[in-house]
Amino acid sequence: MESCIFCRIVAGEIPSAKVYEDEEILIFKDINPIAKVHLLCVPKEHYKTVAELNSAREDVLARAFSKIGSLAPSLRLEHGFRLVMNQGESAGQTVPHLHIHILGGEPLGWE
Ligand code: AMP
Ligand code: ZN
Repeated sequence: MESCIFCRIVAGEIPSAKVYEDEEILIFKDINPIAKVHLLCVPKEHYKTVAELNSAREDVLARAFSKIGSLAPSLRLEHGFRLVMNQGESAGQTVPHLHIHILGGEPLGWE
């Protein structure tokens, strides 16, 4: 997906503030944070939503969640955090590359 901004970040064509990377996922700072800590975790492969994760790929998300959990204390998320995944336009997904918002670093409201 040459035009996808997150694919371009994964490829290193667009700079990002990376906090973690392995062969399968990348975690970087959201450019427009809505919490003191606002990170995005993206699979390096392009999927728009979870609907595109077939059975061969679904474990990518399980590993991503597990990795976020193990990294949390080192990301200033030791007191708790929120994971959000917007799926599709009506949910407010603006970047059509699957991503997990990681929000924390302060008490979070729940409106
Ligand atoms: P969503 O609205 O759920 O699709 O989330 C997309 C997120 O990507 C938003 O929170 C944006 O602030 C963030 N974003 C867009 N472009 C960039 C970028 N170049 N670097 C970091 N975050 C970005
Ligand atoms: Zn992409």
